[in-house]
Amino acid sequence: MGSLVFTIANQKGGVGKTTTAVNLAAALADKKIPVLLVDLDPQANATSALGIEKEEGRSLYGPLHGEGAALDMIVATDVKNLSLIPSEEDLAAAEIELAQTENYLARLRAVLEPVKASGRFRVIIIDCPPSMGMLSMNSLAAADHLLIALQCEYMALEGLGQILRNVERIKEAGVNAALSVGGIVMTMYDIRTNLSRQVVDEVRQHLPDKIFNTVIPRTVRLSEAPSFGKTIFAYDPLSPGASAYKNLAREISARFEIGGAAPARPPAAI
Ligand code: ADP
Ligand code: MG
Repeated sequence: MGSLVFTIANQKGGVGKTTTAVNLAAALADKKIPVLLVDLDPQANATSALGIEKEEGRSLYGPLHGEGAALDMIVATDVKNLSLIPSEEDLAAAEIELAQTENYLARLRAVLEPVKASGRFRVIIIDCPPSMGMLSMNSLAAADHLLIALQCEYMALEGLGQILRNVERIKEAGVNAALSVGGIVMTMYDIRTNLSRQVVDEVRQHLPDKIFNTVIPRTVRLSEAPSFGKTIFAYDPLSPGASAYKNLAREISARFEIGGAAPARPPAAI
């Protein structure tokens, strides 16, 4: 069985992409699914959230420029079944340099091919920078499914429209006609405000098949965990944030039939 590649891309920063990438990856890994998290953001937030030190030369910068292999960039993490391709500042240059190369949209796809072929990972999750530049567009070209982290805030639908237009651009460019919107994760849901509920209702009305049932609550524990280099499961396993990401992982593994060695197995009776 090959790897399923998810990218978490969005032109906005601070919407919960990295928090979702890290904790979803950890939650899937906890289900004994071998996961590779690819940190494609030069700010390396996912790298530090996993407690991994940034190291010059250890990122996809080299491989994206034809130097070195992505497989050689993989490091183990403290989380069982979870590996990482870290990021570092050099990757920022790729944003500019990629635009000057041939087939610039398909670079990452080519770089990840041997990783997929290695059979080491069932799932690859790419955490993107907060812009729709070359790196994020490359991730769309490399992915099977885009996961959209959408913050429960005013104008959320407008942001969603922009992301969906980029998906169309990639498909029209012919680099990844099979790209699908795998799902929408509503993040930073605040139970105390009507706005959060309204935004979720609105997105659900527009894209009922895409929105996940699991909504990620706004909780301080989720924002604290990365400063300790820990996932929410290591930091506070019984917190609402931990159960939310566990539920999201469950939904995703069901939606994409990941994990369970016997795909035909009927769901357990509740
Ligand atoms: P992005 O990767 O989209 O820029 P992050 O995941 O880094 O977004 O989140 C932005 C900030 O919000 C970070 O400080 C993060 O810790 C915090 N944050 C993310 N999700 C939540 C949440 N559900 N509740 C509270 N804080 C959150
Ligand atoms: Mg981020």
